[in-house]
Amino acid sequence: MKNKKELRGWLDKFGLDHPLVIAGPCSAETEAQVLKIAHQLKDSDATVFRAGIWKPRTRPGNFEGVGALGLKWMQKAKEETGMMTTTEVANANHVDLALKHDVDILWIGARTTVSPFIVQEIADALQGTDKTVLIKNPVNPDLSLWLGAVERFYTADVKNLGVIHRGFSTYEKTRYRNNPEWQIAVDLQNRFPDLPLILDPSHIAGRRDIIFELSQTALDLNYDGLMIETHHDPDNAWSDAAQQITPKTLIQFTEDLRIRKEVGEAAEFKNKINTLRTQIDVIDHQLIETLGKRMNIADEIGALKKVHNVAVLQSKRWNEILGKMILQGENKNLSEEFILKVFKAIHQESINHQEKVINN
Ligand code: PEP
Ligand code: MN
Repeated sequence: MKNKKELRGWLDKFGLDHPLVIAGPCSAETEAQVLKIAHQLKDSDATVFRAGIWKPRTRPGNFEGVGALGLKWMQKAKEETGMMTTTEVANANHVDLALKHDVDILWIGARTTVSPFIVQEIADALQGTDKTVLIKNPVNPDLSLWLGAVERFYTADVKNLGVIHRGFSTYEKTRYRNNPEWQIAVDLQNRFPDLPLILDPSHIAGRRDIIFELSQTALDLNYDGLMIETHHDPDNAWSDAAQQITPKTLIQFTEDLRIRKEVGEAAEFKNKINTLRTQIDVIDHQLIETLGKRMNIADEIGALKKVHNVAVLQSKRWNEILGKMILQGENKNLSEEFILKVFKAIHQESINHQEKVINN
Protein backbone atom coordinates (compact mmCIF):
# COMPACT_ATOMS: atom_id res chain seq x y z
CA MET A 1 0.00 0.00 0.00
CA LYS A 2 1.44 3.35 -1.03
CA ASN A 3 0.43 6.54 0.71
CA LYS A 4 -2.68 7.60 -1.18
CA LYS A 5 -4.69 10.78 -0.83
CA GLU A 6 -7.88 8.79 -1.46
CA LEU A 7 -7.46 7.18 1.98
CA ARG A 8 -8.68 10.34 3.68
CA GLY A 9 -11.48 11.21 1.27
CA TRP A 10 -14.12 10.00 3.73
CA LEU A 11 -12.73 12.26 6.44
CA ASP A 12 -12.53 15.34 4.21
CA LYS A 13 -16.21 14.83 3.37
CA PHE A 14 -17.12 15.71 6.96
CA GLY A 15 -15.81 19.21 6.19
CA LEU A 16 -14.90 19.74 9.85
CA ASP A 17 -12.83 22.65 11.12
CA HIS A 18 -11.83 20.57 14.14
CA PRO A 19 -10.60 16.99 14.59
CA LEU A 20 -13.15 14.23 14.08
CA VAL A 21 -14.75 13.27 17.40
CA ILE A 22 -16.28 9.84 17.90
CA ALA A 23 -18.09 9.46 21.22
CA GLY A 24 -20.50 7.12 22.92
CA PRO A 25 -20.51 4.32 25.47
CA CYS A 26 -18.11 1.40 25.65
CA SER A 27 -21.16 -0.86 25.30
CA ALA A 28 -24.76 -0.43 24.25
CA GLU A 29 -26.64 -1.51 27.39
CA THR A 30 -30.31 -0.64 26.92
CA GLU A 31 -32.32 1.29 24.36
CA ALA A 32 -32.88 4.09 26.85
CA GLN A 33 -29.15 4.34 27.62
CA VAL A 34 -28.18 4.48 23.93
CA LEU A 35 -30.76 7.15 23.12
CA LYS A 36 -29.99 9.21 26.22
CA ILE A 37 -26.26 9.39 25.49
CA ALA A 38 -26.81 10.06 21.78
CA HIS A 39 -29.15 12.98 22.58
CA GLN A 40 -26.69 14.41 25.11
CA LEU A 41 -24.03 14.34 22.38
CA LYS A 42 -26.26 15.70 19.65
CA ASP A 43 -25.03 19.30 19.78
CA SER A 44 -21.42 18.54 20.67
CA ASP A 45 -18.40 18.32 18.35
CA ALA A 46 -18.96 14.57 18.19
CA THR A 47 -20.32 13.68 14.77
CA VAL A 48 -20.05 9.90 15.10
CA PHE A 49 -21.78 7.86 17.80
CA ARG A 50 -19.94 4.75 19.01
CA ALA A 51 -21.24 1.78 20.97
CA GLY A 52 -19.92 -1.76 21.38
CA ILE A 53 -22.51 -4.39 20.49
CA TRP A 54 -20.31 -7.47 20.78
CA LYS A 55 -17.69 -6.99 23.48
CA PRO A 56 -14.42 -8.90 23.35
CA ARG A 57 -13.53 -9.49 27.00
CA THR A 58 -10.12 -10.63 28.11
CA ARG A 59 -11.69 -12.82 30.80
CA PRO A 60 -15.05 -14.64 30.46
CA GLY A 61 -17.83 -13.68 32.82
CA ASN A 62 -17.75 -9.95 32.08
CA PHE A 63 -20.52 -8.26 30.11
CA GLU A 64 -20.21 -9.52 26.55
CA GLY A 65 -22.55 -7.09 24.83
CA VAL A 66 -26.25 -7.09 24.00
CA GLY A 67 -25.77 -8.43 20.46
CA ALA A 68 -27.72 -7.62 17.33
CA LEU A 69 -30.65 -6.15 19.28
CA GLY A 70 -28.46 -3.15 20.11
CA LEU A 71 -28.03 -2.36 16.42
CA LYS A 72 -31.70 -1.38 16.30
CA TRP A 73 -31.12 1.10 19.13
CA MET A 74 -28.16 2.59 17.26
CA GLN A 75 -30.27 2.91 14.14
CA LYS A 76 -32.86 4.79 16.16
CA ALA A 77 -30.18 7.02 17.69
CA LYS A 78 -29.01 7.87 14.19
CA GLU A 79 -32.54 8.71 13.02
CA GLU A 80 -33.23 10.89 16.05
CA THR A 81 -29.92 12.77 16.24
CA GLY A 82 -28.48 12.71 12.72
CA MET A 83 -25.17 11.40 14.08
CA MET A 84 -23.32 8.73 12.14
CA THR A 85 -22.80 5.42 13.90
CA THR A 86 -19.88 3.08 14.44
CA THR A 87 -19.40 -0.28 16.11
CA GLU A 88 -16.81 -3.03 16.40
CA VAL A 89 -17.08 -6.02 14.09
CA ALA A 90 -15.10 -9.16 14.86
CA ASN A 91 -16.31 -11.67 12.26
CA ALA A 92 -18.19 -11.90 8.94
CA ASN A 93 -21.52 -12.37 10.72
CA HIS A 94 -21.06 -9.12 12.65
CA VAL A 95 -20.28 -7.38 9.35
CA ASP A 96 -23.48 -8.71 7.79
CA LEU A 97 -25.61 -7.57 10.72
CA ALA A 98 -23.93 -4.16 11.00
CA LEU A 99 -24.45 -3.47 7.28
CA LYS A 100 -28.10 -4.54 7.52
CA HIS A 101 -28.57 -1.99 10.29
CA ASP A 102 -26.96 0.81 8.37
CA VAL A 103 -23.90 1.30 10.57
CA ASP A 104 -21.73 3.94 8.84
CA ILE A 105 -18.26 3.14 10.12
CA LEU A 106 -16.96 -0.26 11.22
CA TRP A 107 -14.01 -0.64 13.53
CA ILE A 108 -11.71 -3.58 14.00
CA GLY A 109 -10.81 -4.20 17.65
CA ALA A 110 -7.32 -4.63 19.04
CA ARG A 111 -7.88 -8.32 19.76
CA THR A 112 -8.96 -8.86 16.15
CA THR A 113 -6.10 -6.98 14.47
CA VAL A 114 -3.66 -9.52 15.94
CA SER A 115 -5.20 -12.32 13.86
CA PRO A 116 -4.54 -12.23 10.09
CA PHE A 117 -7.12 -15.02 9.57
CA ILE A 118 -9.95 -13.05 11.14
CA VAL A 119 -8.85 -9.78 9.56
CA GLN A 120 -8.91 -11.50 6.17
CA GLU A 121 -12.36 -12.96 6.86
CA ILE A 122 -13.69 -9.49 7.67
CA ALA A 123 -11.92 -7.89 4.70
CA ASP A 124 -13.49 -10.50 2.39
CA ALA A 125 -16.92 -9.83 3.88
CA LEU A 126 -16.43 -6.12 3.17
CA GLN A 127 -14.89 -6.54 -0.31
CA GLY A 128 -15.42 -3.34 -2.33
CA THR A 129 -17.54 -1.58 0.32
CA ASP A 130 -17.71 2.20 0.42
CA LYS A 131 -18.16 2.10 4.19
CA THR A 132 -15.31 3.45 6.30
CA VAL A 133 -13.22 0.91 8.21
CA LEU A 134 -11.07 1.97 11.16
CA ILE A 135 -8.41 -0.42 12.35
CA LYS A 136 -7.27 -0.39 15.95
CA ASN A 137 -3.67 -1.22 16.71
CA PRO A 138 -3.04 -4.84 17.73
CA VAL A 139 -2.67 -5.47 21.47
CA ASN A 140 1.05 -6.13 21.02
CA PRO A 141 3.40 -3.33 19.90
CA ASP A 142 3.92 -4.51 16.31
CA LEU A 143 3.68 -1.93 13.54
CA SER A 144 3.83 -4.55 10.74
CA LEU A 145 0.85 -6.42 12.13
CA TRP A 146 -1.10 -3.15 12.28
CA LEU A 147 -0.12 -2.18 8.74
CA GLY A 148 -0.76 -5.73 7.55
CA ALA A 149 -4.38 -5.43 8.63
CA VAL A 150 -4.72 -2.08 6.82
CA GLU A 151 -3.26 -3.67 3.69
CA ARG A 152 -5.71 -6.59 3.80
CA PHE A 153 -8.60 -4.11 3.60
CA TYR A 154 -6.91 -2.00 0.98
CA THR A 155 -6.34 -5.10 -1.16
CA ALA A 156 -10.02 -6.05 -0.71
CA ASP A 157 -10.82 -2.75 -2.39
CA VAL A 158 -11.86 -1.00 0.81
CA LYS A 159 -10.49 2.48 0.23
CA ASN A 160 -12.08 4.50 3.03
CA LEU A 161 -9.65 3.61 5.77
CA GLY A 162 -8.22 4.94 9.00
CA VAL A 163 -6.40 3.71 12.08
CA ILE A 164 -7.14 4.02 15.79
CA HIS A 165 -4.29 4.15 18.28
CA ARG A 166 -5.50 2.56 21.55
CA GLY A 167 -2.21 1.63 23.21
CA PHE A 168 -0.42 -1.66 23.78
CA SER A 169 -0.44 -4.38 26.43
CA THR A 170 2.43 -4.66 28.85
CA TYR A 171 2.93 -7.20 31.61
CA GLU A 172 4.51 -4.53 33.73
CA LYS A 173 2.03 -2.28 35.56
CA THR A 174 2.31 1.31 34.30
CA ARG A 175 0.20 4.40 34.81
CA TYR A 176 -1.73 3.37 31.72
CA ARG A 177 -4.09 0.49 31.07
CA ASN A 178 -2.41 0.19 27.67
CA ASN A 179 0.97 1.80 27.12
CA PRO A 180 0.73 4.50 24.41
CA GLU A 181 4.13 3.83 22.75
CA TRP A 182 3.61 7.05 20.78
CA GLN A 183 6.62 6.30 18.62
CA ILE A 184 4.80 3.44 16.87
CA ALA A 185 1.93 5.69 15.82
CA VAL A 186 4.34 8.47 14.83
CA ASP A 187 6.26 6.01 12.63
CA LEU A 188 3.02 4.94 11.00
CA GLN A 189 2.05 8.58 10.47
CA ASN A 190 5.42 9.33 8.86
CA ARG A 191 5.01 6.43 6.45
CA PHE A 192 1.36 7.10 5.61
CA PRO A 193 0.66 10.79 6.29
CA ASP A 194 -2.66 10.57 4.46
CA LEU A 195 -4.03 7.65 6.45
CA PRO A 196 -6.34 9.23 9.06
CA LEU A 197 -5.01 8.62 12.57
CA ILE A 198 -7.40 8.69 15.52
CA LEU A 199 -6.54 8.42 19.21
CA ASP A 200 -8.59 6.32 21.62
CA PRO A 201 -7.39 7.85 24.90
CA SER A 202 -10.02 5.92 26.89
CA HIS A 203 -8.45 2.50 26.37
CA ILE A 204 -4.93 3.87 26.77
CA ALA A 205 -5.84 5.53 30.05
CA GLY A 206 -8.19 3.03 31.66
CA ARG A 207 -9.13 5.92 33.98
CA ARG A 208 -10.79 9.22 33.33
CA ASP A 209 -8.28 11.66 34.87
CA ILE A 210 -5.66 11.45 32.09
CA ILE A 211 -7.93 11.39 29.04
CA PHE A 212 -7.60 15.12 28.49
CA GLU A 213 -3.78 15.20 28.51
CA LEU A 214 -3.60 12.18 26.18
CA SER A 215 -6.01 13.88 23.78
CA GLN A 216 -3.95 17.07 23.83
CA THR A 217 -0.76 15.15 23.02
CA ALA A 218 -2.53 13.52 20.07
CA LEU A 219 -3.67 16.88 18.69
CA ASP A 220 -0.16 18.26 19.16
CA LEU A 221 1.09 15.29 17.13
CA ASN A 222 -1.37 16.20 14.38
CA TYR A 223 -3.78 13.30 14.85
CA ASP A 224 -6.98 13.59 12.82
CA GLY A 225 -9.44 12.64 15.51
CA LEU A 226 -10.40 11.21 18.88
CA MET A 227 -12.60 8.32 19.94
CA ILE A 228 -13.68 8.84 23.55
CA GLU A 229 -15.92 6.56 25.61
CA THR A 230 -18.81 8.63 26.89
CA HIS A 231 -21.64 7.53 29.19
CA HIS A 232 -24.42 9.45 30.97
CA ASP A 233 -23.62 7.56 34.21
CA PRO A 234 -20.01 6.39 33.88
CA ASP A 235 -19.67 4.85 37.34
CA ASN A 236 -22.54 2.50 36.63
CA ALA A 237 -21.52 1.55 33.09
CA TRP A 238 -21.66 -2.20 32.42
CA SER A 239 -18.12 -2.19 31.00
CA ASP A 240 -15.04 0.02 31.34
CA ALA A 241 -16.71 2.17 34.02
CA ALA A 242 -13.48 3.75 35.30
CA GLN A 243 -12.53 5.27 31.95
CA GLN A 244 -15.81 6.70 30.69
CA ILE A 245 -16.68 10.40 30.91
CA THR A 246 -20.02 12.17 30.70
CA PRO A 247 -21.16 13.97 27.53
CA LYS A 248 -20.88 17.19 29.55
CA THR A 249 -17.20 16.54 30.30
CA LEU A 250 -16.61 15.62 26.67
CA ILE A 251 -18.07 18.94 25.54
CA GLN A 252 -15.85 20.77 28.03
CA PHE A 253 -12.80 18.85 26.76
CA THR A 254 -13.46 19.77 23.14
CA GLU A 255 -13.72 23.42 24.17
CA ASP A 256 -10.46 23.30 26.13
CA LEU A 257 -8.31 21.28 23.74
CA ARG A 258 -5.87 23.34 21.73
CA ILE A 259 -6.10 22.65 18.03
CA ARG A 260 -2.97 23.62 16.23
CA LYS A 261 -4.18 23.05 12.72
CA GLU A 262 -4.10 26.51 11.26
CA VAL A 263 -3.81 27.40 7.59
CA GLY A 264 -1.40 29.55 5.56
CA GLU A 265 2.35 29.40 5.10
CA ALA A 266 3.34 30.65 8.57
CA ALA A 267 0.84 28.24 10.09
CA GLU A 268 2.32 25.35 8.15
CA PHE A 269 5.70 26.07 9.70
CA LYS A 270 4.08 26.29 13.12
CA ASN A 271 2.23 23.00 12.67
CA LYS A 272 5.40 21.25 11.58
CA ILE A 273 7.53 22.58 14.40
CA ASN A 274 4.85 21.81 16.98
CA THR A 275 4.57 18.24 15.75
CA LEU A 276 8.34 17.80 15.90
CA ARG A 277 8.48 19.36 19.35
CA THR A 278 5.82 17.02 20.62
CA GLN A 279 7.79 14.09 19.21
CA ILE A 280 10.78 15.34 21.22
CA ASP A 281 8.60 15.60 24.34
CA VAL A 282 7.49 12.00 23.88
CA ILE A 283 11.10 10.83 23.60
CA ASP A 284 12.21 12.91 26.61
CA HIS A 285 9.43 11.29 28.60
CA GLN A 286 10.71 7.86 27.53
CA LEU A 287 14.26 8.87 28.51
CA ILE A 288 13.14 9.67 32.04
CA GLU A 289 11.19 6.40 32.27
CA THR A 290 14.26 4.49 31.09
CA LEU A 291 16.59 6.31 33.49
CA GLY A 292 14.18 5.58 36.33
CA LYS A 293 14.23 1.88 35.46
CA ARG A 294 18.01 1.91 35.30
CA MET A 295 18.22 3.40 38.79
CA ASN A 296 15.79 0.79 40.14
CA ILE A 297 18.23 -1.85 38.99
CA ALA A 298 21.09 0.10 40.57
CA ASP A 299 19.15 -0.07 43.86
CA GLU A 300 18.91 -3.85 43.52
CA ILE A 301 22.64 -4.08 42.84
CA GLY A 302 23.24 -1.91 45.90
CA ALA A 303 21.22 -4.33 48.04
CA LEU A 304 23.17 -7.28 46.65
CA LYS A 305 26.52 -5.58 47.26
CA LYS A 306 25.47 -4.82 50.80
CA VAL A 307 24.66 -8.46 51.55
CA HIS A 308 27.90 -9.66 50.01
CA ASN A 309 29.97 -6.83 51.38
CA VAL A 310 31.28 -5.67 47.99
CA ALA A 311 32.53 -2.13 47.25
CA VAL A 312 30.17 0.16 45.31
CA LEU A 313 32.71 1.31 42.74
CA GLN A 314 33.90 -1.42 40.36
CA SER A 315 36.25 0.44 37.97
CA LYS A 316 36.75 -2.44 35.56
CA ARG A 317 33.03 -2.86 34.95
CA TRP A 318 32.59 0.89 34.56
CA ASN A 319 35.35 1.15 31.92
CA GLU A 320 33.75 -1.68 29.98
CA ILE A 321 30.40 0.09 29.95
CA LEU A 322 31.97 3.34 28.78
CA GLY A 323 33.88 1.64 25.94
CA LYS A 324 30.72 -0.07 24.70
CA MET A 325 28.64 3.08 24.86
CA ILE A 326 31.21 5.17 22.99
CA LEU A 327 31.20 2.64 20.16
CA GLN A 328 27.41 2.43 20.07
CA GLY A 329 27.20 6.23 20.18
CA GLU A 330 29.50 6.50 17.17
CA ASN A 331 27.02 4.43 15.16
CA LYS A 332 24.30 6.93 16.03
CA ASN A 333 26.38 10.00 15.24
CA LEU A 334 26.85 10.90 18.90
CA SER A 335 30.25 12.35 19.80
CA GLU A 336 32.54 10.68 22.32
CA GLU A 337 32.55 13.85 24.38
CA PHE A 338 28.77 13.77 24.67
CA ILE A 339 28.61 10.07 25.56
CA LEU A 340 31.26 10.58 28.24
CA LYS A 341 29.35 13.47 29.81
CA VAL A 342 26.02 11.67 29.77
CA PHE A 343 27.34 8.38 31.12
CA LYS A 344 29.45 10.00 33.80
CA ALA A 345 26.31 11.69 35.06
CA ILE A 346 24.32 8.46 34.89
CA HIS A 347 27.08 6.55 36.64
CA GLN A 348 27.28 9.13 39.41
CA GLU A 349 23.53 8.93 39.98
CA SER A 350 23.81 5.13 40.06
CA ILE A 351 26.56 5.32 42.70
CA ASN A 352 24.45 7.70 44.76
CA HIS A 353 21.55 5.27 44.60
CA GLN A 354 23.71 2.32 45.61
CA GLU A 355 25.35 4.19 48.48
CA LYS A 356 21.97 5.19 49.78
CA VAL A 357 20.85 1.56 49.80
CA ILE A 358 24.09 0.39 51.43
CA ASN A 359 24.06 3.03 54.15
CA ASN A 360 20.45 2.44 55.08
C1 PEP B 1 -13.71 -0.77 22.69
O1 PEP B 1 -13.48 0.17 21.92
O2 PEP B 1 -14.65 -0.78 23.47
C2 PEP B 1 -12.76 -1.91 22.72
C3 PEP B 1 -13.11 -3.11 23.16
O3 PEP B 1 -11.56 -1.54 22.32
P1 PEP B 1 -10.17 -2.33 22.08
O4 PEP B 1 -10.40 -3.23 20.92
O5 PEP B 1 -9.26 -1.19 21.79
O6 PEP B 1 -9.83 -3.05 23.34
MN1 MN C 1 -14.31 -0.13 26.18
